[in-house]
This record gives sequence, structure tokens and C-alpha cells, in this order.
Amino acid sequence: MNGGRKMRVLVIALSVAVVLVSSFNIVNSFNKEEKQNTNILNYHEDNTKNGEKTHDVGEYIEGKKPLYVDGIVVVNKDYCLPKDYKSDKEKEALAAIDKMTKDAKHEDVNLNIRSGYRSYKTQENLFNLYANRDGKEDASTYSAKPGQSEHQTGLAYDFTDASLKSVGNWFDDTKEAKWLYENAYKYGFILRYPPGKTNITGYIYESWHYRYVGTEHSNNFIMNCLTLEEYLGIN
Ligand SMILES: [Zn+2]
Repeated sequence: MNGGRKMRVLVIALSVAVVLVSSFNIVNSFNKEEKQNTNILNYHEDNTKNGEKTHDVGEYIEGKKPLYVDGIVVVNKDYCLPKDYKSDKEKEALAAIDKMTKDAKHEDVNLNIRSGYRSYKTQENLFNLYANRDGKEDASTYSAKPGQSEHQTGLAYDFTDASLKSVGNWFDDTKEAKWLYENAYKYGFILRYPPGKTNITGYIYESWHYRYVGTEHSNNFIMNCLTLEEYLGIN
């Protein structure tokens, strides 16, 4: 083989190699893209209908069966709990509280629970007390009727600071309220009654009331822009 012929063979061999490598890459990236598109398609089929997120909504029977949406028990003025309701997530919530209060303490934030689980009967007595004092209508703007209190789930907690004072607007400007607002979601808690959302939640702003929903949900509530009703599509 002379020099010129050698060169030509080399060039041809190189060109073949280049074509082979690039066509392999093209096929590969097509496969990748196709795979990604299929995943996106599956996601949309599973979670959306006409562009709206769909939810797993359970059966609700007043006084008998509480409403579950996406695995979260819903308690508000439209959906109440049966008298004997018991959550299986209470232990999990208490463990999360324990971790949260310890972490807060390291930042000189003193979180104390003022109110946690409240039975149907206790709520009944409480509401009647307020209703006798202020009338039923007024009482229902700040107190839940029996069966309508999240505290009956054992997953809702009212926080106070080192003073252990009873809940109220005074808590709004404390470092404890600020810390909870910024950090509670990391532990599975959400601010249940945010400011300016009374028309959705039915309750005035409660800087002290947090609800455990688990981190898989609370991570979507970063800085508490949402209400639970909006998040679950039931507002
Ligand atoms: Zn509360």
C-alpha cells in the first residue's frame, strides 16, 4: 500500500467510525427523550384531569365516616368527625413535635404545647361555655363546634412560649410564632388558619394552631402560602 492509498483507507475508516458513533448517540438520545415523555405522560394521566390536579377523595358520612382526601383527614365547618374518631398518626405527630421543640430550643426558641388532643365531649363543653357567653354565632368564629375541632384528631396543636400563657393574638409577634411559620413544615406541620384566609378556612388567623399532615404534604406548604382546603382542592 502506498502512502496516498493508506491515507484514503484511514479517512474512510475514520468517517465510518464517526457516522457509527453519532448515529448511536442520536438513537440513544431519542430513546431517552421518548422515555422522559412517557414518564411525563404517565404523571399527567395519574394526577391531572383537564389540567387540574385530581385527588383521592374518600366517602364521607356525617357523624359516621370522616372525610379523607389524599390520605389526610379533613376537619372543618363542612366536614366533622364522628364522636369516637381516633387517628392512627398521633404517635407520629408527637414524635415530630418532640424533634421540632428540641431543634427550636437550640435556637433559643421555647415551644410549649398549650393544647393538643381534645375529646368530643370536652369540645362540646367548651363550645357551650363560649356560646352561653357570646352567643352561638360569635362563638363559632373562634371556637369549633363538637365534631368540628381539629384537636379531636390528636394531630392539631396550639403552641405557646416559655410563659405558658393561654393562646391569643399576643403570640403573633413572638419569636416562637416566627420560628414555627418558617420551620414547622420541615417537621410535617402546617399553619392551619393563615391570615386573610377566613373565607376558606372559616376561622380567623391563628398563629399558634398547627396541624400535622406529614412531610410528604407539608413540604408543599413552604412559608404557608396555602390552606389545607386549597391544597386538597375542597375550597
Ligand atoms: Zn387550636
